[in-house]
Amino acid sequence: MSDMRAKMVSENQCQTCMPLGGVVAFKGIEEAMVLVHGSQGCSTYIRLSNVEHYNEPIDIASSALNEKQTIYGGEANLRKALDNVLRVYQPKVLGVVTTCLAETIGEDMERMIQSYIKDHDIRGVDIIPVATPSYSGSHTEGFWAATKEIIRHYARPVAKHSGINVIIPHISPADIREIKRILDMTGLEYTLIPDYSMTLDRPFGGEYLKIPLGGTRTRDISRMAGARATIQFGLTCPDDLSPGLYLQQEYGVPLIDLPLPFGLENTDRFIEALSRISGRLMPDYLALERGWLLDAMADSHKYNAEGHPVIYGEPELVYAFAALCAENGAMPAVIATGTRNGRLMARVKMLLAEAEEQPIFLEDADFTAIYEAAVSTGANVAIGHSGGKFLTEHLCIPVVRVGFPIHDRMGGQRILSAGYAGTLAFLDRFTNTLLERKYASYRQKKKDELTKGSRMQEAAIEGDE
Ligand code: SF4
Repeated sequence: MSDMRAKMVSENQCQTCMPLGGVVAFKGIEEAMVLVHGSQGCSTYIRLSNVEHYNEPIDIASSALNEKQTIYGGEANLRKALDNVLRVYQPKVLGVVTTCLAETIGEDMERMIQSYIKDHDIRGVDIIPVATPSYSGSHTEGFWAATKEIIRHYARPVAKHSGINVIIPHISPADIREIKRILDMTGLEYTLIPDYSMTLDRPFGGEYLKIPLGGTRTRDISRMAGARATIQFGLTCPDDLSPGLYLQQEYGVPLIDLPLPFGLENTDRFIEALSRISGRLMPDYLALERGWLLDAMADSHKYNAEGHPVIYGEPELVYAFAALCAENGAMPAVIATGTRNGRLMARVKMLLAEAEEQPIFLEDADFTAIYEAAVSTGANVAIGHSGGKFLTEHLCIPVVRVGFPIHDRMGGQRILSAGYAGTLAFLDRFTNTLLERKYASYRQKKKDELTKGSRMQEAAIEGDE
């Protein structure tokens, strides 16, 4: 056991690295390419993690720093990488995310990029550097940091207009499409950022493009400062990384911070916010979907009440799934995130304040800590990314896969949990996982009970004799 645990500490973190989140955010911008300023290994790791999850070819450039640049600085490599990327991809937006190495050796990204732009008389492409050293955060913080930098780069004072901004955390392309479907039903004009629903989940067919079609348009981002309001699904987003807070403080755009619309109550809050802004009632079809979800909740409640889930992963997802489970009677046994996020814990503690038994709360957690918490609480199901497969292998706790990365199953990009329809899809998966576990061990349990019973009987007879 101790060997296995030692391995889990070193091999099974609960989060991935900060520039990875930055890369995903840039992939949600139209005609954007990303360059990772660091060693080749960093960009390969980021590229492979994304390819395995999204099942798409995903191009990420690297400045390929090595020992020499670690000592003398990486400016020459960065310039060469910029030359190559601009020539080969001809992007309109180029995100440059840093790595542990680049930040540790103190690369002055702003100066290096400004000097490159000046020397080459660069036009028609915006080069946006983002500091994403992994010792400062996980891919969650990298995602927020890049999204904020992109908005900061483009947002300009503009005349007020009737549109709204919608800022999302790191969710699946399927969830983005569902949120957009709901927004489309309201008739509101909106800018959703970052929109990687097409760039990281492309329909088959057509010509191969180095930079796939889709993504939030930069001209729409530049109008975000004049929007009527910003809806940000960022309850757990730190203030210094919050794009919605930036728009509020710099341009006076009111911020409506909401939980992700996963689960009945959280989706209600989203729909209510949209109804308030648009002045329209919930569209009829959404009301039907809400009804189907309620019906399913009533049908499956007796099974869900037997669930004691371990919920782990990115803070916004963890909060949303904790709320979803609680409203379905599956009180969380363990709440864990790989990053440091006091906001998540404070929010979840408030959410579950009236629970009979409090879960174990873990931040900055790895799977050793999660494993131990799962054992001590008697958890019987897990909700999270593929990292939790060890809970299945060592504790026979099945994992309902959500979040990032999903590298041991197909369709990570298609996992749907948003809105009433997505919640219903998730709930069926969750309930059926509990049922499958129950029926898989049902006969063995009966057999064990019978064997135990007959042994006790034999012992009693021997005692009499
Ligand atoms: S060195 Fe840092 S940036 Fe590079 S892959 Fe590792 S954690 Fe990520």
